[in-house]
Amino acid sequence: MGIRLAQLHLYVDIHLHDRYLAPPLTLVVAALLTNWVPVLHAVVWAGLELLIIANYIRVYRVFKRSDVQPRDEPQWANRIALAHGAHMLAWSSLVFWAWQPESFPSLIFIMLVHIGLIALTASMSNAHLRLLTLDMIFPVLALIGLPLLELNWFNLGLSLLGGGFTALMIQVGRQINAYSTEALQLRQRNEILIQELESQASRDSLTGIVNRRYFLAAADKHLQAAREHGNPLALMIIDLDHFKQVNDQYGHLGGDEVLVAVVDACVQHLRTGDCFGRLGGEEFALLLPDSSLPEALETAERLRQATEALVLTVQGNIVRPTISIGVTLLQAGDSSLSSLMHRADLAMYAAKTQGRNRVVCDEQARAPNQGAAEPVLQT
Ligand code: GH3
Ligand code: MG
Ligand code: MG
Repeated sequence: MGIRLAQLHLYVDIHLHDRYLAPPLTLVVAALLTNWVPVLHAVVWAGLELLIIANYIRVYRVFKRSDVQPRDEPQWANRIALAHGAHMLAWSSLVFWAWQPESFPSLIFIMLVHIGLIALTASMSNAHLRLLTLDMIFPVLALIGLPLLELNWFNLGLSLLGGGFTALMIQVGRQINAYSTEALQLRQRNEILIQELESQASRDSLTGIVNRRYFLAAADKHLQAAREHGNPLALMIIDLDHFKQVNDQYGHLGGDEVLVAVVDACVQHLRTGDCFGRLGGEEFALLLPDSSLPEALETAERLRQATEALVLTVQGNIVRPTISIGVTLLQAGDSSLSSLMHRADLAMYAAKTQGRNRVVCDEQARAPNQGAAEPVLQT
């Protein structure tokens, strides 16, 4: 989220409190206003102002509910400036409703209202500097301008006092803005760091797929869900063939290049929802939720062929990696991942003994839910 958008959110969060504060204050001011205007005028003013409050609270709520993107921030800031600006204008218009020449109570009332407005604006709108400035315009004009309507030394002094007071409040608002901006930036950096840490903790740094710890945890969740809903689930163990030779010939870095290329080739053939992880070394596991045996075997065969088709150049030499895959299906008796992993492992070793570069499925998977004690392996 852009910093401007975060500032706008903070502004709106603080101003949402207006729904409790603004309506009762409006009624108090309308009651005081009846000192100088007919009751009907005060009622009209209060009615208009309550409508304006309802409107800007509605705009805030729509803003909070919408998934606003950083590029939409200026339009939303304008929309909010208009909606809330109407409220500032309504209050500052009290100058025209309540101003009585040579009436001290009227002067006190209007100045008190505007000093209050300016203090509230400085403390509530400082999250967003543009809105702070816009919110200040009408009350500042009214506070400084009012005494000038009846020019004498005393009123000039009041105007200067109001101006100085306002300048201080704006300065304080800007200072708080600097602190809150820093806090928002820190929060955003923390969120990014936490995401990076989580990703580092769950990903294998070489191949970019999930690591053993994450795979086992995710696979266990899939297993429990599949058991709960009676859905099929397939697991395969994938191991690179004669990988030690690659390392011996081209060194560990050369081996790493081959590992990455094989993973990249396999990833192309996965569906969203499949869980592909590196168990360690050159051994990988793939969990296919909602997959029947023919689907799992077809996927395994596609991975095998995609690896077989690779022609890699490692340190100027051609390397053609192959993989052996053991496939198994979730059985009625499987209460934990380890029994599935064990069967897939045995099937993978069977693929090795049968000559490598092949897919082998364990016998239990071929006759599901029979609950055989020991898996029988076949090609
Ligand atoms: P097989 O066909 O029977 O699987 O033969 P293999 O040589 O692949 O068998 P083995 O499992 O004994 O050897 C795996 C080798 O993988 C051993 C180790 O040097 C290498 N290896 C393990 N982790 C890494 C790694 O992160 N990078 C590289 N380059 N090599 C690794
Ligand atoms: Mg191997
Ligand atoms: Mg191995």
